[in-house]
This record gives sequence, structure tokens and C-alpha cells, in this order.
Amino acid sequence: MERTRRIAVIGVGVLGACVGWNLSRQGAEVVLIDAGRPGEGVTDWSFSWANASNKTVRRSYFDLNVAGLAAHRELAATIGPDSWWYPTGHLRWADDPAAEAKFLETAELLVSWDYRVEMSTGAEVRRRLEPALALPDEVPVLFYPDEAWVHGRHLVGRLVGQAVAAGAELRSGTEVRDIGTDADGGVRTVALSDGSSLDVDVVVNAAGPNASHVAGLVARHLPMRREPGVVTRIDCAPVPIHRAMHAPHIEIRPDGDGSMVLHSREIDALIDTGEEPAELARLLHESVRQVVPELADSRIAQARVAERPIPADGFPSVGAVPSVPGYYEAVSHSGITLGPVLGRLLAAEILGGESDELLADFRPERFSD
Ligand SMILES: Cc1cc2nc3c(=O)[nH]c(=O)nc-3n(C[C@H](O)[C@H](O)[C@H](O)COP(=O)(O)OP(=O)(O)OC[C@H]3O[C@@H](n4cnc5c(N)ncnc54)[C@H](O)[C@@H]3O)c2cc1C
Repeated sequence: MERTRRIAVIGVGVLGACVGWNLSRQGAEVVLIDAGRPGEGVTDWSFSWANASNKTVRRSYFDLNVAGLAAHRELAATIGPDSWWYPTGHLRWADDPAAEAKFLETAELLVSWDYRVEMSTGAEVRRRLEPALALPDEVPVLFYPDEAWVHGRHLVGRLVGQAVAAGAELRSGTEVRDIGTDADGGVRTVALSDGSSLDVDVVVNAAGPNASHVAGLVARHLPMRREPGVVTRIDCAPVPIHRAMHAPHIEIRPDGDGSMVLHSREIDALIDTGEEPAELARLLHESVRQVVPELADSRIAQARVAERPIPADGFPSVGAVPSVPGYYEAVSHSGITLGPVLGRLLAAEILGGESDELLADFRPERFSD
């Protein structure tokens, strides 16, 4: 590794923090730059379910997500799991035969791919795992024991703290406005909104939903899809459930002390009808109280519509862009699940020059003209 190379990580959500932490612990000179505060972008407004059971659309994508779960376990062993890693598994059940048939079929596929899944019933789940749930005794419930939920903002805080302790520089509250290149098109400088300019050799575009704009600063076209989601936090004490779950019409997870997170793809579909976030939050709150009656007295604390950072074909864009020497991308949906593995693989590529086979289907070149 050339010790003198200076690397600017643009965006300090879960992806930028994972890349920056891996780079700085290997002795690289890293500047972490965020327009706002680390971990307060979409990473803080995510359902934040670390999983591979929902990633069967392509085998290589499933494999990447399985590697993501393994990388989380390794990271928890390295930095400690406190306040961010909750490996309590995931539950899924349905209230209509078509949805149930579909998830049972997916479970069969997952078993054939050696992914652990346990078949249970509503009564067993109440007895063994989640006494507060209102679900029919006989309903089939899938339990994925190796899945987890992640407190994204706390994870970012931990990684940034360690990166800074290892020598990384943190510039928050300042936006990258420009990226300067030399005559060969290689990255040379970044200009910040606070008026300063940094000499750099490498930039990592980890700007989440703003990644297409940042790519444009080096005249690269990174097509992204628009797919907003609404997430609601409710206050409740004590938190009556212990793990992430997909109940009929609502996704639910704990969010630490006295708080839970609610999300639903069905409610996301209403965002473009112009409905106010407060009304969407009310619908989510109404839905969760059907599944967890103890939440009758809970209160809506916060609601936010967030953009998912999704490259146009739905898959991650991770690695070097050969036409712009020194420019790398780390842009992905499912960034909570994938952050630790993408951070490790991209840091290895930046420092060692070689791309891992796991990323073969997710290279940025596929979007080059
Ligand atoms: C509703 C919803 C549900 C989701 N559910 C899940 C799930 O269950 N499981 C899962 O794995 N994933 C899920 N995701 C996706 C996951 O949250 C994201 O993939 C992940 O958080 C992306 O992290 P990021 O670091 O790329 O982006 P961010 O967290 O948004 O970080 C990007 C950062 O870049 C900064 N930035 C932007 N532009 C600039 C600039 N020009 N200069 C400096 N800084 C800049 C921003 O301030 C921000 O802090 C969900 C997303 C949504 C919206």
C-alpha cells in the first residue's frame, strides 16, 4: 500500500462508515466527509433488518447478503455488539393464502440453498418467542434464526469513533461541491461547501440517495431509481416485542429502549398520492395495534419519508470506475445488511487493487455508456 495516498469518503452513512473504518484500520489516510451528521441520513430511517431471506431474486445477490450477515457477526466480535447489533432472528406470517403460499415457496428455495429457517405456528411463537403478539394459533409462521436488526446510527457512531481514533479526519456539516481531476481524468481534489479544498488521490462515493449527483461531479452517469419509503418511530415502554418481523400489512422491530420502528410497503405505495407523512404514520400506528394490542397507549414520536439509494437495476454499484482513476462507488439498497461486507471488500480493492468475485455482478462498469 502507498502510505501517502489520501482517500476522501463522501457520505458517512452505514456504507461510508464501513468503508472508512476498514481503510483507516489498515493505515490509510482517510477523510470522512458528510453534508450533515454521520449516520443521520437514510441509515437512520431504515427498517434496518439484516437478512438474506428477502434477496432471492438472483443467486449472486443472495450470496452477497449471506456474506453480509457473516460480516456483521465478525464486526460485532471485533468492535463489540453493544447498542447496534441485535441477532434475534426474524418472523414472517400472512393473513391471506396467496401471500402465505408465496413465502412458503421462498422458504423451500432458501432451505435448498442451505439457509436456516424454522417452521412454526402462531401458538408456538407466542409461547416461545413473542408473547405479546395477537396472531391465530394455527397460522404458519417462519422463523429465520440467523437474521437480525441493526441500530444503524449507533453502528455508524461506533465505526466513526474508531476510525478517528485510528487517525481518520472527520469533516461533518460540509458538503462536497466539486471533485477536481487532472489531465488524465484522475481524481485530485475535493471542494467543500465550507470553502476549503482537499488534495486527494481517491474518492469513494457513498452519498446514499445523493450518489447520482456526486457521480455527476466526475461526469459519470449513475442511473438511480426513485423508491421512497415512510418509517415511523413510536414511543412505548416497555418494548413488548424482541425481534424484527413481517406481520400482515406491517413490519415491526424494536429500536432500543422505549422505542419501536414501523414500516409497510403498502403504506409506501401511498406516498405519491400526496398523503401527509403524519397521516401515513397514523395508518402504520393503527396497523401495529392490531398485531400488538399492548401498544394501545403508545405514541407516534417521529415519521419521515426517506429515499432508498437504489441503482437503476436494483443491485449495488460497488468498486472502481476505470474511466475515472481514483473514483470508487459504494451505493446500494439493503445497505444495512451489506455495509460490513461491502466496506471490507471495497477497502481491499482500493488498497490492494483487486476486486473480489462476490462483487462480480455488482460492478459500476455496467452503467458505463
Ligand atoms: C424505508 C426503508 C426501509 C429500508 N429497509 C432496509 C432493511 O430492512 N434492510 C436493509 O439492509 N436496508 C434497508 N433499507 C436500505 C438502507 O437503509 C440503505 O441502503 C442504507 O442505509 C444506505 O446507507 P448509505 O450510507 O448509502 O446512505 P445514507 O445513510 O443516506 O448516507 C449517505 C450520507 O451522504 C451524505 N451526503 C450526501 N451527499 C453528500 C455530499 N455531496 N457531500 C457530503 N456528504 C453527502 C448524507 O448527508 C448522508 O449522511 C431501507 C431503506 C428505506 C428508505
